[in-house]
Amino acid sequence: MNDFYLKGVIKMDEFAFINTITPNAYRQSALLKGIGDDAAVFRQTTKDIATAVDTFVEDVHFTKQTMSMYHVGYKCLAVNISDLAAMGARPVFYLVSIVVPHKSTEEEVLEVYRGMSDIASIFNMDLIGGDTVSGNDWMITITVIGFVLSNKVRYRHHAKDNDFVFVTGTLGDAQAGLQILLHSLSVEKSDYFIERHRMPTPRVDFSLQSMPIKRMALNDISDGLASELNELAESSDVAIIIDDAKIPVHPYFSQFKKEDQYNWKLFGGEDFELVGTVAPTEWEKLQEIAKSLQLPITKIGYVVSDEKINGNVYIEKDKQTERLKPKGYRHKIGGENNEKR
Ligand code: ADP
Ligand code: MG
Repeated sequence: MNDFYLKGVIKMDEFAFINTITPNAYRQSALLKGIGDDAAVFRQTTKDIATAVDTFVEDVHFTKQTMSMYHVGYKCLAVNISDLAAMGARPVFYLVSIVVPHKSTEEEVLEVYRGMSDIASIFNMDLIGGDTVSGNDWMITITVIGFVLSNKVRYRHHAKDNDFVFVTGTLGDAQAGLQILLHSLSVEKSDYFIERHRMPTPRVDFSLQSMPIKRMALNDISDGLASELNELAESSDVAIIIDDAKIPVHPYFSQFKKEDQYNWKLFGGEDFELVGTVAPTEWEKLQEIAKSLQLPITKIGYVVSDEKINGNVYIEKDKQTERLKPKGYRHKIGGENNEKR
């Protein structure tokens, strides 16, 4: 970054801007050098390192119609943290590459960083670097780094025959919140649904607390339950059968149209709950862990292995079983409902 890029975008000079976003103190002892040199440096000698990156583009992944810049920063980091949770990793660091629109204000840029900083503090993460350029639309790319014990990585390919399939929390809430905002729906508990859209809670605590479980396949629900289940089934080369009636929803979810309920809980996505599979012998232990965190956990189905159907997901509904295809709302706003594949 140099001064030139930021002229007219951020009224502060480069030095002042980086100073403003540089943490006063770092939380992670593994860090040797944070912001301020050509690259950040950390040391890790006992754990494996998990890393992920996600990009948020204005009017593709979010709209200012439903999110303030604070929420954009908060959610963009939350989404990345959720990926680490889905691997069983403890979030530790993040780096931010940001395209700041010419038309934006200094206040808006700082709000993005305030949002990120608020959720980072919940999980003890440090901002250790980034890059800043100006452009036409907001674009925020966050790279996250997490640590995980090598035998506790929760790969998608870990599902096995006979496993139970479970999800945390309730599904469809984030999509309900988005629709409430987009269409000014007047419904009960709208604040709850709206918050689930703007400020998702990555299930890091559940993921870390479930370390006593020997083997678990995990995926976070970003593109919708149907899509994530298909990924698990494909990666593990097994079939998954779930029961529609068991999919957990919020008590106030029933106020929405039946068709919306079905689509939102299965294809809505962005709830950032975890879906996974676990051996029946470990199910009770996993339930206890969730209970200790006051996090609902629900068994929604099971895994079978049969060459003829492996790789597929099936849903039982009204005493009929049908294939559950992975269609999800890939780009919810602005674009079409692109099918994932
Ligand atoms: P360089 O010219 O070496 O790329 P920069 O001037 O871009 O360095 O950045 C200086 C320091 O500030 C680096 O440590 C960099 O990681 C950090 N930094 C720059 N922009 C951001 C940003 N938007 N968010 C977080 N850290 C940033
Ligand atoms: Mg740079």
